[in-house]
Amino acid sequence: MSSTIQSIESILVDIPTIRPHKLSMTTMGVQSMVIVRMKDSDGLEGLGEATTIGGLAYGPESPESVKLTIDTYFKPQLIGQSADQINTLRVMLNRSTRGNNLAKSAIETALLDLQGKRLNRPVSDLLGGAVQQHLPVLWTLASGDTAKDIKEALDLIETRRHCAFKLKIGSRALMDDIRHVAAIKEALGEAASVRVDVNQAWDESTAAKGMAELQAAGVDLVEQPTPMKDHAALVRLSERFHIPILADEAVADAKDMYNLAAAGFSGAVALKIAKAGGPVRALEQAAVAQAAGIGLYGGTLLEGTIGTAASLHAWSTLETLHWGTEMFGPLLMKDDIVVKPLNFHDNGVDLPTGPGLGIEIDEDKLALYRRKD
Ligand SMILES: [Mg+2]
Repeated sequence: MSSTIQSIESILVDIPTIRPHKLSMTTMGVQSMVIVRMKDSDGLEGLGEATTIGGLAYGPESPESVKLTIDTYFKPQLIGQSADQINTLRVMLNRSTRGNNLAKSAIETALLDLQGKRLNRPVSDLLGGAVQQHLPVLWTLASGDTAKDIKEALDLIETRRHCAFKLKIGSRALMDDIRHVAAIKEALGEAASVRVDVNQAWDESTAAKGMAELQAAGVDLVEQPTPMKDHAALVRLSERFHIPILADEAVADAKDMYNLAAAGFSGAVALKIAKAGGPVRALEQAAVAQAAGIGLYGGTLLEGTIGTAASLHAWSTLETLHWGTEMFGPLLMKDDIVVKPLNFHDNGVDLPTGPGLGIEIDEDKLALYRRKD
């Protein structure tokens, strides 16, 4: 009865963003994704996605390298294998290939989608079952302009699309950033949660000054203030300030989480299926964080709808997401390649229903946005 993997296609897709998205390491005007279409011997199709931020600006894998990894190295290993033996295939890829977690995440997602469609169950059921059907989603204010950001946030609060906001800082002088953040927090008031993401841009002494100022301004959370490999700085800063730190780039998988927690870190962690190498691996990391008393947050690499849905299925199985999620990627893009977009409302998003991820490709849109050679 077991079905085998018949074909795997990886497709580069470029979709413009609704506005320039300014981060400490790059400004995005387009989001590039790798969409994986995996077909089995029964004619079912599993969808996966690998997406990163700004080509090679965020991490060592680019959309183009993910496609090459899948086409050249993963595909020959996977074709002809039993599609339902997800753990066996995961172990096989981990043994044959170091790193490349974005590519692995896309494959694991496609296998889970395929399995869900075969069993007529949502992916969340394959992960033990959803405990929440509607997940909170924050919005990132990253136009680079204080007045524009305030207007954007007030509109979103009024329409109840978001009530928590993350500000991307770190590319300007410290006090310019602080003034920007404090002005936004003051304009939005107590009703909105304001957090910042520094994306590793500060050294430890700048971070210490920055955190004191942000704490005084009423900011709720400081994400990855210092370089990813400097675990000791994160630990010292988490001991020194009561404003919590969210570890993001510093923590990719369960082992990283264990090391940082064992070193004395307290605060929160951004889970990302892409960093961990897939939804299952991200949940392993969540278990370590929970055991260490570290708060959970559903993170994004600004995935489109397929990668966002895969993340939501994973996060929906967690009892508590202390800091909610940032699964707004599809809203940052001008268009979508799926038939039915995710339903964002009431400061969150609904977990998609239906077998697998619950997502269907719009073939015309895919043809429109796929990269032409
Ligand atoms: Mg981050």
